[in-house]
Amino acid sequence: MSGSPALVMRLVASAYTVAEKAGAIARKVLHSGELGIVEKTGANDLQTLADRLAQQSICASLYRKFPKLTIIGEEDLPAEEVQEDLIETGQSEEILQKSCPAEYSELKEEELVVWVDPLDGTKEFTEGLLDNVTVLIGIAHRGRAIAGVINQPFYNYQLGAGATLGRTMWGMPGLGAFGFQLKEVPDGRRIVATTRSHSNKLVTDCVNAMEPHEVIRVGGAGNKIIQLVEGKASAYVFASPGCKKWDTCAPEAVLVAVGGRLTDMHGNAYRYDADVKHMNSAGVLATLRNHEYYVSRVPQSVLQGLKSD
Ligand code: AMP
Ligand code: MG
Ligand code: MG
Repeated sequence: MSGSPALVMRLVASAYTVAEKAGAIARKVLHSGELGIVEKTGANDLQTLADRLAQQSICASLYRKFPKLTIIGEEDLPAEEVQEDLIETGQSEEILQKSCPAEYSELKEEELVVWVDPLDGTKEFTEGLLDNVTVLIGIAHRGRAIAGVINQPFYNYQLGAGATLGRTMWGMPGLGAFGFQLKEVPDGRRIVATTRSHSNKLVTDCVNAMEPHEVIRVGGAGNKIIQLVEGKASAYVFASPGCKKWDTCAPEAVLVAVGGRLTDMHGNAYRYDADVKHMNSAGVLATLRNHEYYVSRVPQSVLQGLKSD
């Protein structure tokens, strides 16, 4: 590699460290015992102090280094000065050392859209299902997810004191995915991962239509993609609106980097341009392999109920 790293690599290197900081914030808030829970649209749509502080930290830190980015975060927060101790200036050296895929080497700050879910799996966070929680930072260019960082702040929490808490995974289609060991569910076995807290009849009808050998109900969009890439699930099936672009951008980039796909229930791609609708209205279907099989099993009732954009 010659010269200084490409802009997008510097951005991913920052996003990695910023996601680690956000994860540390989530751990600190949990430890304090004062979660500061607010209901947004209802009891199944929560925000905590961790969501608020993590988003402030992520957005302010990235804007300070990359002021021309478009950053879209989940939480609606009052515009106020962010405390200096929330600012993270570090960058992952490992990422700075990687060579940038040629197609991304000339990208400019103002062409990139960053989708931020400061805490995915908030409901599970408040219920103590801590490994369901992730911090998601996705980077999009021309509507496509081109890089994603997933921090899992409480990874290993069940091992107790002494274990290193938390990990960060990242990926870039065309470059690869890092921070975990890719594993697949044995061929022919269908393990479907779906929501645990946002289910309804259409959601369960669709899961059953996949003829799964096993169903796992876990929280978080980020966490369900982790289940896919670590060989615990073969498909993530969510036949409902409710999941948003900040839930899927980073996970999609990591999944695609290892050969997977994330689409709506019709098999159509989502776009991540700055002006798109936030809601993934036509549901989420994600797989590491055999995407077409799962698309082919989606019932008519779902296809009619959830129209592609
Ligand atoms: P889940 O699989 O239920 O954990 O949802 C994955 C992501 O989508 C989380 O960020 C949820 O908050 C969000 N989500 C899914 N369904 C809904 C809904 N009905 N209302 C609000 N958020 C939702
Ligand atoms: Mg989320
Ligand atoms: Mg969230």
